[in-house]
Amino acid sequence: MSGKSVTLAFYGQFHCLGDQCPASCCANWTLDVDKDTYERWATVSVEADRQALLDSVRPVTSGYGDILKQKDNGECIHLEDKLCTIQRRYGHDFLPLTCRKYPRIYTHDEMQDVHSLALSCPEVLNRLFADGQQQRALLLKKTMTVDFQAAEQALLMDPVFGRALLKIVNEVMSLPKYEPSVFLYFIGSVLCNVAKKSEQGELRRKDVNDMHKRLKPDLFQSAKTAQRRIDKLDKHLNVQFWRLLDSIMPNARDLLAVDDSADLDECIDLLKTPDIDMDGQARLHGLVMAMRDQARSCLPASYNDNMRSYLIVKFLNNRFPWNPVEGNVIAAYLYCVIPYALIQLLVWMQVRVEGGIDGAEIKRIIYSVERHLNHNKRIYRLLSEHEELLHLDEYLDCLILL
Ligand code: SF4
Repeated sequence: MSGKSVTLAFYGQFHCLGDQCPASCCANWTLDVDKDTYERWATVSVEADRQALLDSVRPVTSGYGDILKQKDNGECIHLEDKLCTIQRRYGHDFLPLTCRKYPRIYTHDEMQDVHSLALSCPEVLNRLFADGQQQRALLLKKTMTVDFQAAEQALLMDPVFGRALLKIVNEVMSLPKYEPSVFLYFIGSVLCNVAKKSEQGELRRKDVNDMHKRLKPDLFQSAKTAQRRIDKLDKHLNVQFWRLLDSIMPNARDLLAVDDSADLDECIDLLKTPDIDMDGQARLHGLVMAMRDQARSCLPASYNDNMRSYLIVKFLNNRFPWNPVEGNVIAAYLYCVIPYALIQLLVWMQVRVEGGIDGAEIKRIIYSVERHLNHNKRIYRLLSEHEELLHLDEYLDCLILL
């Protein structure tokens, strides 16, 4: 049996923008301090310097280990004028492991070996969306031999089943004639189907292989179904979907930095109102649909291609489907879909207020959402607190808007 070694095409050419970066790596990031780094800090010979380093760590009683303290504005305590004082005074080796690696991502398991880059870094998005990137291969793949028995024991997912699922995802994403909303809806429906059969104890490896064989006609059918369902989308479901997702985001106004707009104010208020009545639901549903329609008519021509590239890297970085979160492959899928959906909503809002959006603004929205969600484990918390989101079959229709 074979697996894959996958490298993001421009991985080797990445260069940090340094103080020219429009974002700081560590702003608003809950940064873990690994044990090796802590021990290295403890070797600093000047006592006052050593103590300052060790005192900058805040122990956490539950969760993921010790973290760096932050200033009131959310920046790392070691950041000065957008540059890191640890790096400046002690060198790269004294940075916590997370900072040393960022934005590089290396993951390895029994089926896949990945070198990629985080989508929260502005320079990664510059390269991902650069002119001409669409014509070049985004992922460089090499076949690697895998130990099937070891994979079967170590992976949280049956390797034959996972590989078939991955083939479906890769193939669907390589068909540019469909919009990202269609393939997200389609992959969601495949996962719902798989989850249902699995719950009933009827899931066989052959089922997923059969889904792969029927992929093109099923996808075509799915695209037609999606079109029909948009007009019949359940208001309550749609509103619940956006309100839940929005609950892990700050006020959109802070992320968008746009002029005053009555529609935007109303939409944000309705998203954030704890109890929303029927009239409010109808109004919010109408606003979301109107914003989406308006945006679709004036997004840059490259938008869908760029968002397809974003999703390809997103799935890769999340090791989908080899990394089912707490054993749940739908949760792994939602780790990719939730940031994507929130990016869409913010893009629609921006278009509503400004009447259009350019590439720079789209990138700013993407890295802001990525940083906010992925640097602070917010999706993990959302899924832990709202297990209803794991019942994707109950709100799958909402994905057709994306
Ligand atoms: S976010 Fe990226 S480009 Fe910006 S400082 Fe960090 S690594 Fe460099």
